[in-house]
Amino acid sequence: MRVLLVAPPGAGKGTQGTLIATHFGIPHIATGDLLRDHVARRTELGRAVEDHLARGELVPDRIVLDMVRAAFAEAKANGGGYVLDGMPRNMAQARALYEVGLELEMTANVALHLQADDEELTRRLLARAALEGRADDTEEVIRRRLTLYHEVTHPIVEWYAGRGILVSVDAMRPIERVGRQILTALETMRGMVDYVPESARRPIDLTGLDAAFGQS
Ligand code: ADP
Repeated sequence: MRVLLVAPPGAGKGTQGTLIATHFGIPHIATGDLLRDHVARRTELGRAVEDHLARGELVPDRIVLDMVRAAFAEAKANGGGYVLDGMPRNMAQARALYEVGLELEMTANVALHLQADDEELTRRLLARAALEGRADDTEEVIRRRLTLYHEVTHPIVEWYAGRGILVSVDAMRPIERVGRQILTALETMRGMVDYVPESARRPIDLTGLDAAFGQS
């Protein structure tokens, strides 16, 4: 299974990415974690991106792309599955990633979109700040990360819808329910993703399921 996560900060990419990786026995490639690890180890790359991270700005595309290309090569040697969390974050990254995927025969089977509103996201990120003290979880930087998400990241969701590989879930609900819905969808698709061409697929929108049962 090859999955991309597209979600605003605070939607639960890390949590759900770990769940998917554990369930399918595939590597969880989280660009934010990889970058923070470089910063913590004070590598040359870490020193180059530290300020971008602290301000909530995106780091240069080339840096993340090289990191992800290396992680993909490693994933390929270990069966070829992956869950990628944190990239792509803009249209140029989406296209570049697709090229790398074609090159390595590892294009994504599913682009999983986690939806949540800004008020809930801000609440979660401020709660996390109190627990983990991440440098970019201050109110001002959170606002910047959300703005960037809406302006440059969210538009790529439509691109995945057009390719037929988009699955949207409502990430406003408790972690376990979101996770169960994701795994159910992915398990259902598992048998067919390798055989049904993207051109024959349609986006799947699971965000209205609770409403169908009278819940919101
Ligand atoms: P979140 O989605 O909660 O903001 P991440 O851990 O995914 O957190 O990313 C943290 C920071 O790392 C981002 O604000 C950005 O500075 C940098 N980053 C991560 N992935 C990318 C990417 N694909 N392109 C550019 N910058 C990135």
